Amino acid sequence: MAQVKLPDGSKLEVPDGTTAKQVAEQIGPQLAKSAVVAEIDGKLVDLSSPLQGHASVRIITTRDEQGLDIMRHSCAHVMAEAICHIWPDAKLVYGPTVRDGFYYDIDLDEAIRPDDFERIEKKMTEIAQADLPFVRKEMTRDQALDKMADDKYKTNNIKRTHSDLISFYAHGDGFEDLCRGPHVPRTGNIGSFKVMSVAGAYWHGDPTQKMLQRVYGTAWPTRKELDQYLHRLEEAKKRDHRLLGRQLNLFSFNEAAPGFAFIHPKGMIIWNAIVDFWRQVHDKYDYSEVRTPIILNEELWHKSGHWDNYKENMYFTDIDGIGYAIKPMNCPGGCLVYKTRHHSYREFPMRVAELGLVHRHEASGVMHGLFRVRQFTQDDAHIFCTPDQIESEIIGVIELTFEIYRAFGFEDFHIELSTKPQKHIGSHQIWDISTNALKEALRHKEIDYQVNEGDGAFYGPKIDFHLRDCLQRSWQLGTIQLDFSMPQRFGLVYTDKDNTEKTPVMIHRAVLGSFERFIGILTEHYAANFPLWLSPLQARIMPISEKTNDYARRVRQDLRNACLRCDLDLSDEKINAKIAKAHAAKVPYMLVVGPREARSQAVNVRIRGQRQNKTVSLEAFIETVKQQIADKSIDLNFAK
Ligand SMILES: [Zn+2]
Ligand SMILES: [Zn+2]
Repeated sequence: MAQVKLPDGSKLEVPDGTTAKQVAEQIGPQLAKSAVVAEIDGKLVDLSSPLQGHASVRIITTRDEQGLDIMRHSCAHVMAEAICHIWPDAKLVYGPTVRDGFYYDIDLDEAIRPDDFERIEKKMTEIAQADLPFVRKEMTRDQALDKMADDKYKTNNIKRTHSDLISFYAHGDGFEDLCRGPHVPRTGNIGSFKVMSVAGAYWHGDPTQKMLQRVYGTAWPTRKELDQYLHRLEEAKKRDHRLLGRQLNLFSFNEAAPGFAFIHPKGMIIWNAIVDFWRQVHDKYDYSEVRTPIILNEELWHKSGHWDNYKENMYFTDIDGIGYAIKPMNCPGGCLVYKTRHHSYREFPMRVAELGLVHRHEASGVMHGLFRVRQFTQDDAHIFCTPDQIESEIIGVIELTFEIYRAFGFEDFHIELSTKPQKHIGSHQIWDISTNALKEALRHKEIDYQVNEGDGAFYGPKIDFHLRDCLQRSWQLGTIQLDFSMPQRFGLVYTDKDNTEKTPVMIHRAVLGSFERFIGILTEHYAANFPLWLSPLQARIMPISEKTNDYARRVRQDLRNACLRCDLDLSDEKINAKIAKAHAAKVPYMLVVGPREARSQAVNVRIRGQRQNKTVSLEAFIETVKQQIADKSIDLNFAK
């Protein structure tokens, strides 16, 4: 008999040779139906795998990330079969999964075109509907090399594996592919799929080799999820910040400076609104602010370790024949400020922020609007403290970080903790103290987090903040990083209670990461419908005819006196055309004024993206809007 241990701790006794699928059936018919693979003693295997002796078994469905991945990979096999059916000369290279889908690299002289996707999908549907089992066959490495002798791609794949046992998976009409597995049990389990695109790709990225065709696909457990995904892609295209930035005159790029953003007046209003808010929150959390030079002597970068570890991402210059570097990080400058005075434990914790302009080299192929640039403003800070202050400092940073994210309407966060890597500096004791302090801080804030074991920097553990936007895309923004290296390299000290000199703990942290990137994310998240407090223009006044131009000017003056950002449309256009233009410019509030409004000192208010309108007194309008700005309301409304 085999002893099976389930994830909830319960035990099951089954005859030797019972399959994982049969175990799933014993647990429940629903689970058996949605099961795709099993994890036996930590290893993912086919559901048809038999059990022996003692085994920990977890049944995995497509609700699991691993299960979804295997479903997508299995779908890649089915796509490969469909392609081989249509083009019998096609040679398969490999078919891994990627975010939200998969691809298969194909060697085929005839070009596969988007027009062909439909017939590939049609054949895939046939294979899926036939609901044939994925059957694993194993053989020795030599047998496999022999079998694949005519196929240079598969021979290469076999040579790159370290296993002595090589597996093939068969399904359908004699279709078979070399693969480590596991797969879903049957071709009917590949979910709802779509062939997405095709692009050229070199074998192993080697441009001296023949160009392959990389066919991308996506697969989701249900039709509904596939449709939602396709809808998100459409939305993302419409929301592309490069497009909206140009349309709304927020920012631009120029070939005179690739990877360096030009922020226009309207973009600067958003930028400055974020800076004002950022400073306000940092004041509240007792930070001071510094500004350090962008260009610093090469010697400094040798000392900081950047020369040895980061040089290929840095830009250099020389002044009077002496070598200088453009800073990729603000830390060394922060250390020099620290060193200008003597410090005592009484000053700790010392929280010093810097909106630092940094330059990091990016290859020209990877730059992407504001998301990936070569120059950006980092909302940096360095905290100097004693080891026993780490935990309370981390709690403070977490609170500040969430306060800032929530002001922009983000609620969906994901936190990761990265711990001591193999290669590291600093004693085990300091690593233990700080890693525990990070964990305790997260526990104190009742935050769930993922641990990335061994993924910390060599100089200390870290916490990363990821957030999800309205299209469910995940962005890594904030980071809290402990550093046991730099304070030593720079000889930073403080006088402790016992009158001895000690090295302070240094915490690097950023909340938004890069201002440029964050503005790009906001532009797409809001589809450029910025909330009132960030919107470059908060209201536009539109007189119905020139008879009310004077009253319109008076309204503009009152709004300006109340520090509201507004403009006035005195063009000859009809009022409906003016309204349409204001909607297109994404102006939050449109104030239509005619003789009736002028007589009663009122405005007729329309809200961006809405049809109805409402007449309120000018005074009430100003008061409501000022309150919405103060509250940082995300939604626009005018109930009262
Ligand atoms: Zn496979
Ligand atoms: Zn730093």
